[in-house]
Amino acid sequence: MPDARRRVPRVDHVLADPDVVAAVGRLGRTRVKAAVDEALAACRAGRVDPEDVVAAAVAALPDEPVSMRPVLNATGVVVHTNLGRAPLSAAAVHAVALAAGATDVELDLDSGLRGPRGAGALAALAAAVPDAGGVHVVNNGAAALALVTCALAVGREVVVSRGELVEIGDGFRIPELMESLGARLREVGTTNRVHLADYERAVSERTAFVLKVHPSNFRVEGFTSAVPVAPLTGLGVPVVADIGSGLLAPHPRLPDEPDAATTLRDGADLVTASGDKLLGGPQAGLLLGRADLVQRLRRHPFARALRVDKLTLAALEATLTGPVPPVAASLASRPGDLLDRARLLARAIGAPAEAVASEGRVGGGGAPGVPLPSAAVALPHHLALPLRQGSPAVVGHVHDGRLLLDLLALPPEQDAALADAVRRVLAPAPAGSAGRGA
Ligand SMILES: *Cc1c(COP(=O)(O)O)cnc(C)c1O
Repeated sequence: MPDARRRVPRVDHVLADPDVVAAVGRLGRTRVKAAVDEALAACRAGRVDPEDVVAAAVAALPDEPVSMRPVLNATGVVVHTNLGRAPLSAAAVHAVALAAGATDVELDLDSGLRGPRGAGALAALAAAVPDAGGVHVVNNGAAALALVTCALAVGREVVVSRGELVEIGDGFRIPELMESLGARLREVGTTNRVHLADYERAVSERTAFVLKVHPSNFRVEGFTSAVPVAPLTGLGVPVVADIGSGLLAPHPRLPDEPDAATTLRDGADLVTASGDKLLGGPQAGLLLGRADLVQRLRRHPFARALRVDKLTLAALEATLTGPVPPVAASLASRPGDLLDRARLLARAIGAPAEAVASEGRVGGGGAPGVPLPSAAVALPHHLALPLRQGSPAVVGHVHDGRLLLDLLALPPEQDAALADAVRRVLAPAPAGSAGRGA
């Protein structure tokens, strides 16, 4: 025992090992030092051989500096909130990396003076929606509504239909958000029906604006009626439309989903939307509409608390001006092509994988109830857990007792990674042979 203790390596020797130095470069000294201390303690206790201390310390460390893990989205849900909504395009990822260092986000390089923050992203948004007199970007859709409320409706009334009092998710409700900031809601109509006359009766000198909220995550069917934006514009007060999903123009596959251009042309004074739903960009809140109102929002003190960072601005600009983002590509995919991919994958994986037709959806606050024809690789359902625990994790969904790995939301360039992940789970490598960070 005393001999073994003498053979315990010195901590500074372990920390100087090239593998450990590389780990410090990836993960930082604190975490690596803790792993080294633990491996040394195990060595002192006789559980790790002195020559294995470095390997034990490195093996105990994660590959990546973040705890969030990459996931192959095989759920068939294009905008999956629990998976971070829209995946960024390669161009947007590149833009984020460019902006991550020092950048001229708020500096005019020609004059050397302060410049307008995020001018490129705002210009791209304005160009994408020419009907908007002004545009502004905040942290998310809820922040956009919060800013409108703070700037226009504190101590005043917001007229809204009872059929549009929406809970967004995780217990957050749009009406409560607005009330928490000091607006009073003046509810009109019933859950299923509201008429123009209801709005007319409710509008008074206390009204700040009429709010239209797109029921983006539920559907009321049967005996229903709602009032669209156009007739509401004759009430003598501004109309604010929360369209939710961030479609900038009509989408042929989602005819019931409102878009910014049409909503503005119908006469809405302001439109709010999210950046990371159907627009396919980073988390952001888009504000579009009358130039004077947008300017008021931009200059309101609260705007500073909702300001987006440079990474968001970079990703948003690249999403708006660059190649088709993954969300739009998914929506444009043809069921026949998806089935071809599923067949190729099933062949590459081998038994028991099988290609099947399936049904995906938009998810995450868009086109509720609209099925999107898709295709999937079907597998025994007990593979769901090991696939979720793999690296990369694979998340599918169980349907009729089988695990479906749906291809609608999976970019085709990830097919090979999906096949590899499934093969690893079907035929686990012998213990000890799995290379780390592979
Ligand atoms: C998603 C959604 C919101 C919230 O947007 P976030 O970007 O998640 O803050 C608000 N309103 C509607 C109609 C939505 O669909």
